[in-house]
Amino acid sequence: MTAKPAAAAARATVYGYPRQGRHRELKKAVEGYWKGKVTADALTETARTLRRAHWQQLADAGIHEVPTGDFSYYDHVLDTSVMVGAVPDRHRAAVAADALDGYFAMARGTQDVAPLEMTKWFDTNYHYLVPELGPDTVFTADSAKQVAELKEARALGLTARPVLVGPVTYLLLSKPAPGVAADFEPLTLLDRLLPVYAQVLADLRAAGAEWVQLDEPALVQDRTPADLNAAARAYRELGTRTDRPKLLVASYFDRLGDALPVLAKAPVDGLALDFTDAAAANLDALAAVGGLPGKRLVAGVVNGRNIWINDLEKSLATLGTLLGLADRVDVAASCSLLHVPLDAALERDIDPQIARWLAFARQKTTELATLARGLSQGTDTIAAELAANRADLASRANSVLTHDPAVRARAAAVTEADVRRSQAYGQRTVAQRTHLGLPLLPTTTIGSFPQTDELRAARADLRAGRIDTAGYEERIRAEIQEVVSFQEQAGLDVLVHGEPERNDMVQYFAEQLTGYLATRHGWVQSYGTRYVRPPVLAGDISRPEPMTVRWTTYAQSLTERPVKGMLTGPVTMLAWSFVRDDQPLAQTARQVALALRDEVADLEAAGTSVIQVDEPALRETLPLRAADHPAYLAWATDAFRLSTSGVRPDTQIHTHMCYAEFGDIVQAIDDLDADVISLEATRSHMQVARELAAHGYPREAGPGVYDIHSPRVPSPAEAADLLRTGLRAIPAERLWVNPDCGLKTRDWPEVRASLESLVAAARTVRAEL
Ligand code: GLN
Ligand code: ZN
Repeated sequence: MTAKPAAAAARATVYGYPRQGRHRELKKAVEGYWKGKVTADALTETARTLRRAHWQQLADAGIHEVPTGDFSYYDHVLDTSVMVGAVPDRHRAAVAADALDGYFAMARGTQDVAPLEMTKWFDTNYHYLVPELGPDTVFTADSAKQVAELKEARALGLTARPVLVGPVTYLLLSKPAPGVAADFEPLTLLDRLLPVYAQVLADLRAAGAEWVQLDEPALVQDRTPADLNAAARAYRELGTRTDRPKLLVASYFDRLGDALPVLAKAPVDGLALDFTDAAAANLDALAAVGGLPGKRLVAGVVNGRNIWINDLEKSLATLGTLLGLADRVDVAASCSLLHVPLDAALERDIDPQIARWLAFARQKTTELATLARGLSQGTDTIAAELAANRADLASRANSVLTHDPAVRARAAAVTEADVRRSQAYGQRTVAQRTHLGLPLLPTTTIGSFPQTDELRAARADLRAGRIDTAGYEERIRAEIQEVVSFQEQAGLDVLVHGEPERNDMVQYFAEQLTGYLATRHGWVQSYGTRYVRPPVLAGDISRPEPMTVRWTTYAQSLTERPVKGMLTGPVTMLAWSFVRDDQPLAQTARQVALALRDEVADLEAAGTSVIQVDEPALRETLPLRAADHPAYLAWATDAFRLSTSGVRPDTQIHTHMCYAEFGDIVQAIDDLDADVISLEATRSHMQVARELAAHGYPREAGPGVYDIHSPRVPSPAEAADLLRTGLRAIPAERLWVNPDCGLKTRDWPEVRASLESLVAAARTVRAEL
């Protein structure tokens, strides 16, 4: 197959690159600066060195147009707030005194001033700082950072394209500043913001930018006609300025939908669209609007969010189709490479048979360059790369790791009965009540107790070989003893073992399941200087042996009260991992669910009467578009039920989620058919209890009465008050008493006092019933 060369030679580009450096130099420099151990000059120099190294890496790999301005000391949305002068009043003095310290004060707060709120960047695990705006916000252009980085890249002789958060997305991601009416819509500030963007664009053009990219991922979400009008207005305004560079409006994470015709008609010079499977609808939609005559199309064909090699032939086919639809077609990753680790070549411990399936940021740039070459010069010129890619893909498809016949046969044989409890809730709750003999308003916790320095030291000692497994397990047992004896003294009703053996609620299970891999250098930014190393779900999932049973049964051996088994649910196991892309998520979730189902069965057989399966990620992986929610929620709730429905009627299944706003998934929560759900509720004063009641949620629930995000110890009176509020929505027979979430980040003294308050509150309110 030989595609004919494109009219204009295709360029390879990316929208952003991992910031941290191969040894996480940026994290170390920034944290060193916070501690006063690294000077501002040294931090600036580290950052400049990293940027230069990354641009050079990109250029060496064959990227024709490198991004600038995507680099950040903390977060690019915060950088955008600085760029448009949207500094909250409470931070103005600090910013005026010292721009860098003021910047970090906005990100992290100080003793006296609260930081900006942080929230998830679309459906990724990256978190941004939410801009705070109000009717009095005055925007002012500060293009210094953008201009400086553009000049740095150009000084290296590179073709560079500044990347900015677009004005519509910026406003749609903002929230009313404290003290501003909650119904204030930041988008109403658009007319005030556009001149500031126009100024920044003019500055960038003056500094030598031919193209500037404006990221508008908010347009892949369901948008109102008013939002779309705002987008049309924004790009008509910016596009008709004469002193501007060429404008590339970028979208990613999903299809553009109704926003596509709006942008296609706008007087801008190019659009970047996501063409990965999740956004495949963009292809037909683009054809339907008649393509982008006279415009540049940047085609995101290499998935910027997963860590797997691309199917180059498939991408070439997509690119070939697109050639007829625009003036020129360039090749890109679907989104910034910020969401993937830096370099798979650093992974020396991964079996080379598997390592060849991996593409981190660095490998993806090579793929892009290859695709651009194939597109411009004909596929003959990349014949060797195509052959190698075909062989790598075939080795993955034929691997025993990705295809375990026993796992597949079992998953295929799952029936409707397997995802249903043998009795309806109304019947089994009676059996559970008899079996467990709990008081009204039973007290419990969410699972983890403080992860102390001693526990972390024990894990480090084990890794370093200073203690052996037996010595480590001895320390874990001692911790469990302490946790259990404290809970008995405090008078809790359903105990936990405290999760001292878990480094992380996903990693702990990933390490024990066949089909998962760990990386050594696979860091991705979660927020600021926090980087995580998600496990890699690479193959068919099976459970060679029980994962939690001995710790739970050990804890149970120490007490007469029920000890709750504690597992991480299938949706969360997928959400916080890099998941294989060679089969539907539903199928992968089903495999994980079956492994968990076996764990649940083993716990039950070992005498565990209460088992909690945590699903904090159920809501966060909700697709960006409402039309996709039902399909997602169907497989997600099915997987949860598959993992939990094999138990006897008198075994009580709990689940837990960490948030207070879940109106859009309340039906899905109901569909989980868990006997008990615990949720965060303290800060919202039991709002979740009212929402569950409004929905007619028929089962038991524990809206939290202790805010674990704060070191503050609630008084018995406060907790009792919250319980009374809860009782107005949920009857006493169905109300549980628990904290908002796990206690692993808290200290023992606070936890002791807080749980004592919680038990005291439960006793007080019970006496009032
Ligand atoms: N069982 C876990 C814990 O208590 C749940 C954590 C979570 O919801 N994120 O730590
Ligand atoms: Zn939680």
